[in-house]
Amino acid sequence: MKKIRVNLDKRLSASHEICIGYDILDRIGLIIAKNLPALHYVIITDSNVSAIYGESLLERLKGMGMKADMIEFPAGEDSKNVSTVVAVVERLLKVGADRKSALLALGGGVVGDMTGFIASTYMRSLPYIQIPTTLMAQVDSSIGGKTAIDLPEGKNLLGTFYQPKGVFIEVKFLDTLPEKEFNNGLAEVIKCGIIDDEKFFHFLEEHAEAIKQRDRGILQKIIEDSCRIKKGIVEIDEREQGLRRVLNFGHTIGHAIEAESHYTISHGVAVSLGMVAAVRISETLHDLPGEDRKRIEHLIEILGLPRHIPQTIATDRILSRLRTDKKKEGDTIHFVLLKKIGMPFVNGGVPESVLRETVEGLKK
Ligand code: ADP
Ligand code: ZN
Repeated sequence: MKKIRVNLDKRLSASHEICIGYDILDRIGLIIAKNLPALHYVIITDSNVSAIYGESLLERLKGMGMKADMIEFPAGEDSKNVSTVVAVVERLLKVGADRKSALLALGGGVVGDMTGFIASTYMRSLPYIQIPTTLMAQVDSSIGGKTAIDLPEGKNLLGTFYQPKGVFIEVKFLDTLPEKEFNNGLAEVIKCGIIDDEKFFHFLEEHAEAIKQRDRGILQKIIEDSCRIKKGIVEIDEREQGLRRVLNFGHTIGHAIEAESHYTISHGVAVSLGMVAAVRISETLHDLPGEDRKRIEHLIEILGLPRHIPQTIATDRILSRLRTDKKKEGDTIHFVLLKKIGMPFVNGGVPESVLRETVEGLKK
């Protein structure tokens, strides 16, 4: 088992450890007890994960003499809203959760975001641990302390920065993850390679087949590296005031595509399309070597992610969404672009004509 320390604000005792390994579930009780001693643990999970891993985790904790309960809500992004929060909170009150209790977020990004949000607000905050079960959550959303729920007006509009007391990554959880969800997470892994480290990017190219086969050693390595990259950035800029923005590589256009598809295109797929757009813009405007662009597009393709958007998504709609984003941030849209693999930068302005051409290009 590998341990990665996340060093954050000492006053808020926000520092914690990420534990990563394959088949390490028998250590989870000890790790929870050590990182987050509490009188009462409540597992928060969704209806799918509850059946596959929740019941057995609950039994394991009880078997160790810990007082534990489990609360589940229906799986899916549609649950990430105020009414589910209220329903979960009512259940927390029923099982007697108080400030001496601790929450365990067992599931994908939806469970992690929601549990973090509830942990940061229930009785003015409880500590929690992230136990991510999707690749997306293991490499991205469980690290960094962003919590959120959706409102009818948009995704992630209500949220906090609230760090967990630990992140426990069991790579074996991925054995049961559907391929679509697995590929979704790979988009964030590719992003890490592009923004941080050419060596890691090269590793992904070399081991693409093993990654697709979910070779456990290779999976553990790419999860570890992605976590290290993300935590390194979060340590420097916990609240996304500067450097952390590079983690949004591929996300500006990605979010616009995701929203315009009415979320029928998943986050990972939209981000890979956004990354293709960003590298094409970088080549046009900032001399990103053509070879780097080709390598990125090729890796996205061989890892099973699309490089094209459906014709049905109107270019004008995407551009108008980007313009709305622009108003939120003042005059310019802050695109993260690329000088070369491993060297991102934040750029204030991309001419609308280049944007239009790039989005049109994604349709071919
Ligand atoms: P994400 O992590 O991409 O934000 P979700 O939290 O919505 O996504 O999880 C995606 C789907 O995968 C959900 O239906 C969830 O119940 C399911 N899921 C999560 N982890 C596993 C797993 N290890 N095995 C099988 N299904 C899982
Ligand atoms: Zn993302």
